Amino acid sequence: MKLANKYLYDKKTVCPVCKQEFTYTRVRTSQLKVEERGRDFYTKYKDDINPFFYEVIVCPNCGYAALESEFEKITNDKREKILSLVSEKWVKREFSGERTPQKALEAYLLSLYCSQIKEDKPIVFAKTCLRIAWIYRILGDKANEEKYLKHALDSYVKAYSGSDVYEEEILLIYMIGELNRMLGNKEEALKWYNKVIHHPERSRHTMIVELARDGWHSLKEE
Ligand SMILES: [Zn+2]
Repeated sequence: MKLANKYLYDKKTVCPVCKQEFTYTRVRTSQLKVEERGRDFYTKYKDDINPFFYEVIVCPNCGYAALESEFEKITNDKREKILSLVSEKWVKREFSGERTPQKALEAYLLSLYCSQIKEDKPIVFAKTCLRIAWIYRILGDKANEEKYLKHALDSYVKAYSGSDVYEEEILLIYMIGELNRMLGNKEEALKWYNKVIHHPERSRHTMIVELARDGWHSLKEE
């Protein structure tokens, strides 16, 4: 398998926790070809490459892990907490190079644990748990997939009802509808799809509105 050469490349960074330099692997997005996009945005690409496997950076020296967009965001007191709760027990191991679903899962579960320690915003938990559910789906583990879809749903609801303002609120509402549908909560799903369909920003997000309409109709036809 030469996936590594075509899609992956290495980058160096300095860990904000242990301050050591290390190499992590990124995906060349220009090479990606979409084969199928799910209603929860899980996307299947040609050659079975899963770019989201690489969205978590793990420091091989201290075990600090986070989504790439959150990696640098750490305060001094949270850094101390990571050092005592994660790094002290950390067995040095590598996360660069091609990731199997199991390796990606390990990275994401570490990232989730670090998010709990850092007390990240609900949206970070939502994204992380949704991706963990996708990995369990790939692994054919239904029970864990459902467990993490539920965690993702709870976090999206927290994000929606919290004080943080999100640029793409309509997407947040759509995800709450969609996750409710996937979890069999029909009435809740219809309620949230309706919020998307009547959202003041609906004309700027036609794709999301279409997805919500599809979801709404699929439930009404049941
Ligand atoms: Zn580190």
